[in-house]
Amino acid sequence: MNIPPFDATTQYQSIAAEVEKNICAVMAAGRYIMGPQVKEFETQFAQYLDVENVISCNSGTDALHLALRALKIGPGDEVITTPFTFIATTEAIGIVGATPVFVDVDLTTYNIDPELIEAKITERTKAILPVHLYGRPCNMTAIMEIAHKHNLKVIEDCAQATGATWEGIKVGTIGDVGCFSFFPTKNLGCFGDGGAIATADSEIAERVEYLRRHGGKVKYHHEELGLNSRLDTLQAAVLLVKLPYLDQWNAARGAIADYYISQLSQIKDIVLPTVAQEGKSAWNQFTIRVVNGQRDRVQKTLKEQGVGTMVYYPIPLHLQRVHANLGYFLGSLPISEQLSHEVLSLPMFPELSTSAQKIVTESVSQAFFALI
Ligand SMILES: *Cc1c(COP(=O)(O)O)cnc(C)c1O
Repeated sequence: MNIPPFDATTQYQSIAAEVEKNICAVMAAGRYIMGPQVKEFETQFAQYLDVENVISCNSGTDALHLALRALKIGPGDEVITTPFTFIATTEAIGIVGATPVFVDVDLTTYNIDPELIEAKITERTKAILPVHLYGRPCNMTAIMEIAHKHNLKVIEDCAQATGATWEGIKVGTIGDVGCFSFFPTKNLGCFGDGGAIATADSEIAERVEYLRRHGGKVKYHHEELGLNSRLDTLQAAVLLVKLPYLDQWNAARGAIADYYISQLSQIKDIVLPTVAQEGKSAWNQFTIRVVNGQRDRVQKTLKEQGVGTMVYYPIPLHLQRVHANLGYFLGSLPISEQLSHEVLSLPMFPELSTSAQKIVTESVSQAFFALI
């Protein structure tokens, strides 16, 4: 039995009839760009998050880009963020002309370490951009406190954390803007690219709304340079079907995480993920640390057993060539560097069968006990 790290096809089968009905309705109506399903999805997603405004766009990357633009962050400005994330986070900062300033992560949460943020604040700092990595919420209490004290904006990268909460509040609605991705592997995935921003601030929402369609409030009247970044009507139609299932899918992920934790807690060279009492993870990934230099060996052994795993991310962003100009070097951000050698994400998707889960944990155990 081959167990992939992620599988979209089983979920599709479970909702195929509904999805196909919605997609056909869009095709028949012909409103392929900004059809009524787009607004309908924005309304329903805003209700789900319990936030005043949701504006959809073409991807999670564009959501970050649009959020920064809406906050008028640009050349000369600094944005504090984590180096242990997907490139899109800093890509967006760089594209608007601002400078990412990296703060190392916490070894237990893999998220930005709030204790280290204040030391990196300068007069150029405009915002903090925390990433809820693997679905685990950042310590938003600490981050918001620092932001208020220094009058900084907070942009949450929720690409991996749709449905996660901090102190009972959905991530993405705690800072000034929350940025979501509907890439197929995310918790709420569409059948292509898609994204959205969430905000309680109607001014930010209004700016994102016209920036995503070429920067003009009135058609063919353009106030500033915008983007072509609309959510396809077809994708909105898919998301309308999927949104009502999100909580149950996230709960299924949570049950898989519980099972993995119960089966792997005895292995001394594995550090299992924990979630802070205040938080609820969306479990986009179940990521363990394999310590004592064994990660690559374990990944290879699992592959031989047919268990697919992933390394998110093998190179922290401060060591990526694209960011060489920022002046970081090996040793600048030691926890992120350590994690890049230790993290291993096990198969995680709501439809992962109990028999497959058992094979995963048995294969992981064998990868260690075979040595003894
Ligand atoms: C996926 C992802 C993004 C970008 O989302 P896209 O929809 O693929 O553009 C941004 N940040 C993080 C942390 C992600 O995982």
